[in-house]
Amino acid sequence: MNVMDIFATMEYGPAPESAAPALQWIKERQPFGLFINNQWVTPASGQYIDSINPANGKPLAQVAAANSTDVDAAVAAARTAFETWGKTPGHVRARYMYAIARHIQKHARLLAVLEALDNGKSIRETRDLDIPLVARHFYYHAGWAQLMSSELPGYEPVGVVGQIIPWNFPLLMMAWKIAPALAMGNTVVLKPARYTSLTALKFAEIMQEVGLPAGVVNILTGEASQVGEALLRHPDVNKIAFTGSTDVGRSIRRATAGSGKKLSLELGGKSPFIVFDDADLDSVVEGVVDAIWFNQGQVCCAGSRLLVQEDIADTLINKLRVRMEKLRLGDPLDKAVDMGAIVSPGQLKEIQRLVAQGVEEGAVMWQPSWACPTEGYFYPPTFFTNVAPATSIAQVEIFGPVLVSMTFRTPVEAVALANNTRYGLAASVWSENINLALDIAPRLKAGSVWINCTNMFDASSGFGGYRESGFGREGGKEGLYEYVQPAWEAQGKAQHAVVTNGAATSGEKMFEGMQSIAPEDDDVQTNGHSAWPANGGNGTTGLLPPIDRTPKLFIKGKQVRPDSGYSRAIVDPQQRVIGQVGEGNRKDIRNAVEAAHAASGWTNGTTHNRAQILYYIAENLAIRENEFARRIAQQTGRPLADASSEVEVAISRLFSYAAWADKFEGVVHRPPLRGVVLAMNEAIGVIGIACPDEYPLLGFISLVAPAIAMGNAVVVIPSQQFPLSATDCYQVLETSDLPAGVVNIITGDRDALCQVLADHDDVDAMWYFGSAEGSKLVELASAGNMKRTWVNYGYGRNWLETEQGEGQEFLRESTQVKNIWVPYGE
Ligand code: NAD
Ligand code: MN
Repeated sequence: MNVMDIFATMEYGPAPESAAPALQWIKERQPFGLFINNQWVTPASGQYIDSINPANGKPLAQVAAANSTDVDAAVAAARTAFETWGKTPGHVRARYMYAIARHIQKHARLLAVLEALDNGKSIRETRDLDIPLVARHFYYHAGWAQLMSSELPGYEPVGVVGQIIPWNFPLLMMAWKIAPALAMGNTVVLKPARYTSLTALKFAEIMQEVGLPAGVVNILTGEASQVGEALLRHPDVNKIAFTGSTDVGRSIRRATAGSGKKLSLELGGKSPFIVFDDADLDSVVEGVVDAIWFNQGQVCCAGSRLLVQEDIADTLINKLRVRMEKLRLGDPLDKAVDMGAIVSPGQLKEIQRLVAQGVEEGAVMWQPSWACPTEGYFYPPTFFTNVAPATSIAQVEIFGPVLVSMTFRTPVEAVALANNTRYGLAASVWSENINLALDIAPRLKAGSVWINCTNMFDASSGFGGYRESGFGREGGKEGLYEYVQPAWEAQGKAQHAVVTNGAATSGEKMFEGMQSIAPEDDDVQTNGHSAWPANGGNGTTGLLPPIDRTPKLFIKGKQVRPDSGYSRAIVDPQQRVIGQVGEGNRKDIRNAVEAAHAASGWTNGTTHNRAQILYYIAENLAIRENEFARRIAQQTGRPLADASSEVEVAISRLFSYAAWADKFEGVVHRPPLRGVVLAMNEAIGVIGIACPDEYPLLGFISLVAPAIAMGNAVVVIPSQQFPLSATDCYQVLETSDLPAGVVNIITGDRDALCQVLADHDDVDAMWYFGSAEGSKLVELASAGNMKRTWVNYGYGRNWLETEQGEGQEFLRESTQVKNIWVPYGE
């Protein structure tokens, strides 16, 4: 071939990156040991597994297969290291992390080649995307290590963190996990994915090079059934951070339920890629290439559902097919290759199976005319049209280079189609009309929304899911909270203050500064209330019995009879009946959830309006302050002065959340791109709330107020023992202009009602403040639709104290962060 031929055909020549240095590096080290306490150790089992090069199907290296004995050793090393690392000044941690970032850049070439060899992804991507983002992640989080003491006052590290990552971005997922953990002073035991361990092992060498203290990061390669299971069940692990499939995420939620381990889950997706008819179609075509053929489509946030406005669908489909013909698939180490290999034969088979199923369902499949290499695990870019929204090809995550397309007519239809999925990881919106795009973005149920761009990532901007795509964020300040806990909480756990059956057990130590409020405490029982005078109040009614009033349930703004027709007796500390409340059941919960869903106007209304209504609730509560105080005293046997102060704090707390309603704003991130990322705090949706027994009114207000201030609708189960303070609020709520359905209240057997709420697929989050057993029940049941949970594991909380009873922790639990990427320019 001469220059003229090349000029005429414009064919690519081969442009291979050499594998030799990486292969040499492997040869000198294999079989690889486990990295525990900064040393390479042989696995307890003595067994090794092959890591394959997917581009040729041949073994690349032998890595150790760890088992539970190795997990024990690694966790012990991490625990010992935590004693000092957790107290190491932020500046010192920052220096180590800065050094790690520098060394990643120094070893960038080797890392990029290793990643391409081990995973099958193209060198173009590992070199230009994975590895630079890894370095960026350590630089960015070195900064948070430096700033932790000033910017996160009152927070402590969580302790030993178990981290489990997938194979699709091996080193990048590791960086997303390790960088924030170390920045916040935690120590780590990390399990890479079975197919892709090599860059994590190179990373271990980097940690040795920079002299990171022994045991701070430990790396265990091997099989999920051995290492993963042992890690997530280990009693001395304080947190599990997982990225992977929704199915495994669900099983991890169940396995860790009730253990008190903090949990963050980054799971799967089936993300929409929405194209309006005024979009720049040439940009759209390149966008689609990046959305679904980047990394062979093995991307959790891949834009795998193309939603096109009907009038341009044919044009776009044709343009895409033309572009697909020109995609270059082949040797991952060839710098001119767009697509590499699928990670494993198993994954390849799964893609083939799902594609065949799509064809069977009647969708039309299209692939380019060129053939894939026969050696190795390759799959061509694939495009489905004529796809029905309910079919499996439109609903199931394929995790391969397979795009499905559907059409819509109006923006409303686009949003409905986009949200027609159990996932909620990401979405792209393409339109030259920025107003339209910014109107659509908040309506999409997704953690990241990319406007006229796709698959953009940066350490500064949190990434994570809505719905069954998981919970927790990685990146940004929002991601740091996954790796810290409030200091008071850490100290409380250390003291083993446990609440059983909702109320503090006498004899157990309460949190420091927490008043003893247990009803069975002798000293509070002796203040000699008799039922009637306490109710009668200011000495006016003498010994007249009160008028019997049985509060009903509160659903959709109305007081309604319980479906069961039954009520339950509420007694005072002397076991005298002081009232009846409705006995709620499954049907009542369902009605309440439906009412809460119908109250979406609340979410979309103005924050000013929400603030006004919270002030109004406070005002109406204040008018009846004495009555509420007497009711608390009557139920709990606490002195009236004590009860009065509870009401006062409740009123103040309503003011706090009225204040926060229009102030818990998002931030504008500035990643290294021309543009901005708008991090918005959005309502979660419908939150189920089980109130503590400790403070009948304050516990109720402290939970309901932040939830509704942030735009959620709630279904509340008041204290089972002392529900009358909540039911007395019906009239307060009715007279405060609160829209129907925003707050629904169901009395009855708290744990039984919680079970129904936690099982309910239309409940988006569940808060529970009761017993340890109840907490476990809620976490277990939540796995059904992967709802977010916030439970107390039976630990008490001093609701009177501002530090424990109100503030940002409550606001964060009431919101989820959506990052909207808005690039600038033509
Ligand atoms: P996977 O869930 O099979 O495995 C993920 C990790 O968990 C691996 O390390 C695996 O060994 C381990 N694991 C598997 N079963 C386990 C068990 N029972 N107990 C403990 N550990 C276990 O997922 P995968 O195939 O490696 O990755 C693909 C999936 O990951 C896709 O669903 C994708 O969407 C998702 N993903 C999500 C994100 C995100 O940030 N949301 C990023 C990348 C990938
Ligand atoms: Mn491999």
